[in-house]
Amino acid sequence: MPSVVSRLQVLPRALPCVARLASCMLRRLPFAPRSTDPDQPAQSTPPRLKSFLEKTLTARETPISPHSACARLPRRSAVRGVAITESVVDTLAGLVAINSVNASLPGGPGEAELAHHVADLARAAGADVELYDVEPNRPNLLAWIRRGNRPTLMFECHLDTVGLDPMPDALNPRIANGRLYGRGSADPKGCLAAMLHVLHAAASDPDFPVDLCLAGAVGEEIVMIGSRVMAERRPPVDAAVVGEPTELRIITAQKGAVRWRVRTHGVAAHSAMPEQGHNAIQDMATAIPALARGIEPHLDARPHPVLGHATWNVGTIRGGAGVNVVPDLCEIEIDRRLVPGDASAEVLHHVDAALDDLRASDPQVRIDRDPPFVDIPPLETPHDARVVRAAQQAVAAAGISPDPLGVAYATDAAMLSGVGGIPSVVLGPGDIAQAHTNDEWIEIAQLEQAVGVYLGVCQAFAKVGD
Ligand SMILES: [Zn+2]
Repeated sequence: MPSVVSRLQVLPRALPCVARLASCMLRRLPFAPRSTDPDQPAQSTPPRLKSFLEKTLTARETPISPHSACARLPRRSAVRGVAITESVVDTLAGLVAINSVNASLPGGPGEAELAHHVADLARAAGADVELYDVEPNRPNLLAWIRRGNRPTLMFECHLDTVGLDPMPDALNPRIANGRLYGRGSADPKGCLAAMLHVLHAAASDPDFPVDLCLAGAVGEEIVMIGSRVMAERRPPVDAAVVGEPTELRIITAQKGAVRWRVRTHGVAAHSAMPEQGHNAIQDMATAIPALARGIEPHLDARPHPVLGHATWNVGTIRGGAGVNVVPDLCEIEIDRRLVPGDASAEVLHHVDAALDDLRASDPQVRIDRDPPFVDIPPLETPHDARVVRAAQQAVAAAGISPDPLGVAYATDAAMLSGVGGIPSVVLGPGDIAQAHTNDEWIEIAQLEQAVGVYLGVCQAFAKVGD
């Protein structure tokens, strides 16, 4: 939870951005990105804007759901099918109001409604839109602004969010203290809103420095099925910026993950006569140290200067029907984190060798492993890659540290880079600390700043060359 002090600090910083937001809405002009200068005073405040500002700042909480109390504010972009105009805050409110909880999570409707909403906005802006199902009614989205004779940059963002519970009013976006609250506001819809405004800018300017692909992928929060399929289809782009809440810092390295199940098979019997059965749990007790002997010697093989070493964890174990029954089955799930240079095939080869050794030493043991149910490659984009240098120029111009970072969590960038061969960075507004919590918000000043940073990446990408 934010402290009182941090809330007080946010309010004055939000003033200029609220002024720009209100000014933009009042004038009903097409969105025109500007640099965010927290010290710049609002200029010649018109009377309507002044009264809006007074209302906003004294009310402290302004519900902005397009479906509820906000009809008094103009917000055309928050209504499905209407062009991207006005403010990025409005656009974000429209995205947050749509439930796109991952379909694999309890009660999750999936990403289709959001995908179609974004497709409508992109089409209205002038983009060529492609939607294709990754699974039934779970479409990936690609929106293109192409003129040729210039490099092509992809802005990619996942469309799904984690569940709504226990966040109150998760689908009713509201503004308080310079923040927009709602499920997905930080992860990932703030990024998506900023990217939509970049798409609009690209569509509006025939001299825009790059061709643009806005990509929305389903299923990031569970197994990244959308970005895997997108990467396998090899979209013709030169590089990708993946939107996740990084506080506009550049991520170039992340750990990957491979997860799989191992089972031992026994023979059930009454526990009064255990000699008539074969205990699968006891076999698993032997198997886990054997797996450790196969996996652990390789964890330090490729230490990474930022990410450290690889890890493994036995996360679940299941087996046995009752205390008086010899168990005939035991199953574990293993998570192995990968550092750059690791490959899941090599990891599984070591696992299989360990299982072979176990079978050789005890022919009574019947053990097998499933193919992995999660397989996400690690990410390491070289710091001299064109997209990294462009991102560095753009964030430095915004007064943000250009030093690339590494993180332990995985994003769609892993698939685009590791599977699709697309040089990728992760970069977006919002703080990962708020992602997945019941207090999810994004700082409006940073959301607005993101549009300028993304536009800066486009300009720098065309300039820095290969
Ligand atoms: Zn995310």
